[in-house]
Amino acid sequence: MGGRNRFEQKVTFWGVRGTLPTPGTETLHYGGNTSCVEVVNTDLLRETETSIILDAGTGLANLGDAALKKGKRDFHIMLSHMHYDHMIGLLRFKPFFSPDCKITIYGQRKCGLSLRAIFERFFEKPFFPLSFAEMSANENTTFVEINDLKEIKISDTRVQLQPLNHPQDAVAFRVWSLDNEISVVYATDHEHGSEVDQELVDFSREASLLLYDSTYAEAGFQRYVGWGHSTPTAGATIAAAANVCAYGLFHHDPESSDADLESYLLPEAKRVFRHSFLTVENQTICLSDLPDILRRSGGSKAV
Ligand SMILES: [Zn+2]
Ligand SMILES: [Zn+2]
Repeated sequence: MGGRNRFEQKVTFWGVRGTLPTPGTETLHYGGNTSCVEVVNTDLLRETETSIILDAGTGLANLGDAALKKGKRDFHIMLSHMHYDHMIGLLRFKPFFSPDCKITIYGQRKCGLSLRAIFERFFEKPFFPLSFAEMSANENTTFVEINDLKEIKISDTRVQLQPLNHPQDAVAFRVWSLDNEISVVYATDHEHGSEVDQELVDFSREASLLLYDSTYAEAGFQRYVGWGHSTPTAGATIAAAANVCAYGLFHHDPESSDADLESYLLPEAKRVFRHSFLTVENQTICLSDLPDILRRSGGSKAV
């Protein structure tokens, strides 16, 4: 890896917060929008581009606006699960309300409901002014249920899937570059156990970037057992065991200020894995540049 080649993979963090949007002066730097990450695979020779959207938290609204401005009309959204903080951005995702857009949603059927039925419940009066049947999305959206899949192809991009430990289940994604050299693992909304999570270690092995649920500090985590989240120590332990290039702390707790993230959540991760950093809203990382950037910054947060 390293240096520019024909196939590029870029990751943009449109929302890195968990649970609830958190605007305010104390979260200004790392951002308050909830989970939404875009992975763009580019073939620089053929000048083709595939964008894969991971989760639909409030960050999705800004992604949609930016994409429409660029003339994009085709969207692939993969949902780790359907808790509000991973879905709520759909309420202001303009492509959903644009008949000329084409949207494919990948997610699990749950609680006895098909994926489409989950969306029909989500867009329902009196919680929303329109029912799903009244929206353009009813016509321009295709649903792909991923419950039984280990791998899926979107255009030429390979995405692997791995179950996570979370109430009503969640799924992790590993998105590969077109030459299968570079990859990002998106593993959020996961509670670790007392042993190192070997399945997630195997799933993440040698990834360029691991994004992992780092909601709570290790101290005091016992209060949150059963809530389905994890810690920087657990993330860094997986990152080290899987020998990934970098670990991005993700799904920041709404109660964590910028100062909290820097003063104790990041240091907790770095004690175990030096190449740890805090994900920042609106940041784009080119993964082929990642090892160089980490070397330059000494593995600091500023990648
Ligand atoms: Zn969440
Ligand atoms: Zn959740």
